[in-house]
Formats: sequence, structure tokens, C-alpha cells
Amino acid sequence: MIVEKTTGTTHTEKVICLAKSKHGCPYAKTCGGCQLQNLTYEEQLRFKQVKCIRLLGRFCRVEEIIGMETPYHYRNKVQAAFAEDRRGNIFSGVYQAASHKVVAVEKCLTEDEKADEIIGTVRKLLKSFKLKPYNPDTKQGFLRHVLVKRGFQSGQIMVVLVTGVREFTKKRSFVNALLKAHPEITTVLQNVNPRRTSMVLGKEDFVLYGDGKIEETLCGLRFRISAKAFYQINPAQTEVLYQKALEFAALTGRETVIDAYCGTGTIGLFAAEHAKQVVGVELNADAVKDARENAKLNGAKNIRFVCADAGEFMREAAAHGESADVVLMDPPRAGSDRAFLSSVLTLSPKRIVYISCNPETQQRDLLFLCKNGYQVRKIQPVDMFPHTSHVETVAVLSRKSASKSFIPVSISPKDMGLSEEKEQPTYANICDYVQKTHDMKVSSLYVAQMKAECGLETQADRSGDKKQPKCPPEKREVILDAFRHFGLIGEDGTEK
Ligand code: SAH
Repeated sequence: MIVEKTTGTTHTEKVICLAKSKHGCPYAKTCGGCQLQNLTYEEQLRFKQVKCIRLLGRFCRVEEIIGMETPYHYRNKVQAAFAEDRRGNIFSGVYQAASHKVVAVEKCLTEDEKADEIIGTVRKLLKSFKLKPYNPDTKQGFLRHVLVKRGFQSGQIMVVLVTGVREFTKKRSFVNALLKAHPEITTVLQNVNPRRTSMVLGKEDFVLYGDGKIEETLCGLRFRISAKAFYQINPAQTEVLYQKALEFAALTGRETVIDAYCGTGTIGLFAAEHAKQVVGVELNADAVKDARENAKLNGAKNIRFVCADAGEFMREAAAHGESADVVLMDPPRAGSDRAFLSSVLTLSPKRIVYISCNPETQQRDLLFLCKNGYQVRKIQPVDMFPHTSHVETVAVLSRKSASKSFIPVSISPKDMGLSEEKEQPTYANICDYVQKTHDMKVSSLYVAQMKAECGLETQADRSGDKKQPKCPPEKREVILDAFRHFGLIGEDGTEK
């Protein structure tokens, strides 16, 4: 198991931003976008595995993270901020982490190379067309950002010129010059954003060339993508993630499925191929429009989309006595909310498949569901964002009383009715099990800390000493595994 070899993760987390890039990125120190780039890719995966185990290992075993074969230039969406230096030289790049300072970036390890080329061309064109970057403080200038979206499979490219003002002199010749340099561009838009905001896109859009959208293929389905709607930025790993989500959903063709936080309907449309019917719910009206168009494009007749707050929608559904067999949920980083989760409990689906881009909020939400009758059966991390500290996970839960036949689970001695006859394991038994199974030494102190954490023992005689070392994440996981092995805790990490 990956975690066995890992040590000192907490420390690693702290020093990461200060260290030099192992991949030779010249912007490593100033940009701050790739927090893990001083680690080899293998080390990054280990780091993320340990992070997931630390946050989610209490629920069940965390499967080994699925990484990328070639973890570079995976981003299909690239946005660059434009600025000029004191001498009036135009540059573009990214905002330095937690600041408004633009760091000049010409080529990025994570971004699509074609997109970087196009942004380079826009820099040159600004100069020749005597256009200036827009300064929101002085309200002077023209161009704020360039956003490029590219369909890796379709080859279609969208370029959005985000301007601070509506007026665009020599618009036609500018667009023609851009298309001449990059005939592969399939659509160009102008988006106007005059406000002092960190949001890239403003409200108004004008299509300058093409039809304002690109099309892309994902898992064999076609998708139309607009400038504002959310679309996963790493298509290769999205396919891996969605396959896992579908596998966990274990659809037979008879289910009613809710796809909550559905974006442009991607997961829901895959699910629709294997379910009786699907309802997608999403707050962003542009995404819902795209989702409906995507359903038509793929001839899916058993899916509909509702533009609403997911929590509100679920509350209504629960109040009207509606039912769902499977709930797929993929909330933003902040996670879900009580209204949503409580209504899920009322609807009482057989399975909940929870995709998350933030294991911290996922932990909170899983805990709520586990305290209210559900059990986490499997957790699979997928590396969607190499070189950054972000990690995506997909978890499947089912009702505690439900049949477990659809997904293999490990059976504890207590499940087999053996725990009554079995004596409680001693500290030595637990340390010995960990040594033999995981080839790792753990102290009685750490075992005691974990027992206290799981509510198996009060730690009155130990907890007073603040100088005691705290059980590190990789050891927490193996000790929890030992607790599960000896039937001391259930699969959701609570006392049995
Ligand atoms: N499942 C989609 C989108 C996931 S991103 C995909 O994989 O592509 C999360 C989505 O949740 C975004 O599209 C965002 O607009 C939407 N969202 C955020 N808050 C919401 C809320 N309260 N109710 C419904 N949707 C919401």
C-alpha cells in the first residue's frame, strides 16, 4: 500500500511552497499554482493518498489513487490575465496566489500547449493593434483576460477575449488576424467585464466568430460547451472518474437517478444509458441550457434537467413523496448543505455516489450521512489536478440495512458473529497485527490515541500531556485497519 513508505507528510505539506520545482518550472516560486511541484509525481500521488486516508480513512479503506500516465498539459481550459509593466510592455499570466499581482507565464506545465500559443499570439496582436491591457483601478485600457477552451478529442477551440470596455475598435481585423495565425480556432467571443472583481467573466457576451460554443466527446457522448458553464478541466481523468462513479452506482436499467450539481449534464447522461430515468439539478442557468442541448445531441429521452438550488429541489422532492433509487452528487468545493443531505435521508435512496473535489467537506458530509443510517462502502481517489494539492474522490454509500451484494465489502469478525467469543485484542495484538500486515511499527501511545478518537477508550491518564507526539496520518490508517480487523469499529469508523 502506498502509505507504508510515506513519512513526514504534515511537514511536507508546510515546506512545499518554498521548495524549488523538480520539473524545472521557472515560475514555481512566484506563481504558487502548483503546490506540489517540488515532489516527483510518485511522491505527489503518495501525498494525496495519505491526505485522503487522513480525512476519509475512518469511513472505509481508501482505494489506491489513480494517477495520470503523462501528468502534463492536461488542462483543456486556460485563462490568462493581461497587464503591462512600467515600461509599457504587455505581459500575461496568472494571478499570484492570494494577490492581484500578475505573474508573467508564457508556458505552463499543466496547461494545454496550443492554448498557451494562442495567448502568446493575442499578446503580440495587442501591441500591433495598439490596444492596452485593462486596468480596473483606473478604468483605462481594453483587454483583461483571455480564456481558451479546447476539446482534446474534437480539436475545437474557443477563444474568449474578456474586455473591460464594450468598445472594440478594429474588431473584425483583430479577429481575422487571430484566425489567420490559428486557423484551428473554431469560435471567438468577446465578454465584457468592467467590474472590480476577481471573477474572470462578466455578464455580457458577443459572439465574434463561429457559434459561440465548442463540442467535445467524453466517454463516447457528445457535449456542447459554452464559455460560462462548468466543464471538467482534465478530460482524460474525468473519464476515469466517471467510469468509477458509474461502477459504484451499479445501475441495472430500472433505477430512478438524481444527478445533483449536474453542471452540463455529463455524469447524468452516462447514467441515463444504464438507468430508467435521470433528473439533473443545477443552479447555473447556462449550464442547464447546455445540459438540455446535450441531452438532445445524444438522443437521450429519459433525462430532464431542473434549474434550481440542489437543496431546495431535494426538499421539494422529499415533501412531495418522490423517490430515487440512486443519488449522484458532485457539489463544489464547499460541499453540500444540510437541506440537501436531510432530504436525501427522506428520499432514502439505495445508493449515494458522492463525487468531491474537496475531501475535507466530503468528510463532514459523509459523517452526517453515516450518523443517519448510511455506510460508506468504497472510496476511490482520482488525481485530476497533478502538481497541485487538490484531489478528487468518489465514494459510494448504501443504507446500513441494505443488502451488500452489489459491492464487495470486507466482513469483520463481528459480522460473522465471532466477536462475542473473541477476546478483546491487547495493545500488543494490535501493534503486532500492524507490524505483520503493514510492515510498520506503531506505539501503544498511538493506539491509545486512536482508541480515544474512536470512542473505544477514555484517555484520562494520557491526554493531559500536551508534549506527546500525535499519531501521524499514515499510522492512523493502519491502526484503524487493525481496529476494523479486530471488529472494534464498524466500516464507518464508529464504535460497534
Ligand atoms: N457534475 C458536473 C459539475 C460539477 S461542479 C460535472 O462533473 O461536470 C459543481 C456544480 O455545482 C457546478 O456546475 C455549479 O454551478 C453547481 N452548483 C453550485 N452550487 C449549487 C447549488 N446550490 N445547487 C445546484 N447546483 C449548484
